[in-house]
Amino acid sequence: MTTHQRQFSNPIDPVKLDKLAEVAVKVGLGLQPGQDLVMTASAEALPLVRKIAEHAYKAGAGLVTPLLSDEQVTLARYRFANDASFDRAAGWLYEGMAKAFDGNAARLGVVGDNPMMLAEQEPAKVSRANKANSTAYQPALARITGFDINWNLVSYPTAAWAKLMFPGEEEFVAVNRLAEAIFSASRVDRDDPIAAWAEHNRNLHVRRDWLNGHRFAALHFKGPGTDLTVGLADGHLWQGGASTAKNGITCNANIPTEEVFTSPHAMRVDGTVTSTKPLSYQGTLIDQIAVRFEGGRIVEAKAAKGEEVLGKVLDTDEGARRLGEVALVPHSSPISSSGLLFFNTLFDENAACHIALGQCYAKTFVDGTKLTPEQIAAQGGNKSFIHIDWMIGSNEIDSDGVHADGRRVPVFRKGEWA
Ligand code: ZN
Ligand code: ZN
Repeated sequence: MTTHQRQFSNPIDPVKLDKLAEVAVKVGLGLQPGQDLVMTASAEALPLVRKIAEHAYKAGAGLVTPLLSDEQVTLARYRFANDASFDRAAGWLYEGMAKAFDGNAARLGVVGDNPMMLAEQEPAKVSRANKANSTAYQPALARITGFDINWNLVSYPTAAWAKLMFPGEEEFVAVNRLAEAIFSASRVDRDDPIAAWAEHNRNLHVRRDWLNGHRFAALHFKGPGTDLTVGLADGHLWQGGASTAKNGITCNANIPTEEVFTSPHAMRVDGTVTSTKPLSYQGTLIDQIAVRFEGGRIVEAKAAKGEEVLGKVLDTDEGARRLGEVALVPHSSPISSSGLLFFNTLFDENAACHIALGQCYAKTFVDGTKLTPEQIAAQGGNKSFIHIDWMIGSNEIDSDGVHADGRRVPVFRKGEWA
């Protein structure tokens, strides 16, 4: 294609974008006739938002409500807002979302914001704004982590994100490459994406069922800079692939997804662990994280880059220093094989084994969606306003499952299923 032609064509293949929207509605959400949909997205992602609305209504949606954000509006706040603004959040909106979920609305988030949007802003302001937002978001988040309703995250190739990933390329080329990477990871480049997802879900369920059959008491990770024992919560349940929300609807919450995951015991994590990929957190890159756990709590934390932000994240609340998720992803996963660093957790967490600071998921407990938050906490489930995944896996990491009697079973060797 010549430069001249490029100016007049679209870097994002419209046929694949339409398939992505269809997969988001049919596989991601499993949207049911009559069900409402609350969608959040950046204004730049409107082409995908519109396609999702089309497929949602074709699937019989009651009402589709998009809520749009915009990078320039967010940056205007950092440039011009008075200081008190940074302790404010749109609590009324999140209460409204919670109310919609109580009325059985599904939730879809289109991600793809510029990962470095807030990189130049004052860390103290970013952290205050994040804290106010996380706190206000709680009514809506509790219904999502509690799996009250079917939900899904899918992504759109925005220009700023693409340019960060492919800094040497022209914008057209960068967006095209990111779009193709998203389509491939989301399996919409296949002839029949819906069938490809059914097969992928079956494969993830085989791994999930194997781990649930073992009922390990802990996982032990060992590799360069890592010697970590992650005790698993009492009555934990491994999840992976499609799962069923409390409202009875089966969904794939993340597109893409390559992980099987469960809940660690908030008090039983010990040892040291080093991150294997940078973590892009709300506009800041946190790299080469090294932490030490004692009795489930991070007692020492370092990072080569972004250490100040990491420190503020850990101080969000008591649960922010403890784990809410441990996940297994083979090093040979398609996202890992792409060799790309996406600066976006939805993708990067599916390239490597990872752990998450903060809130656990109710569905990672046996009958978890029937348990109260207090019962989940009593079984070792962690509670926090945050949930932040970071990558600890690589082709140099081994992992064993450890039974209560100390017997060990190889789970991963050199980053692959043993
Ligand atoms: Zn995960
Ligand atoms: Zn997670």
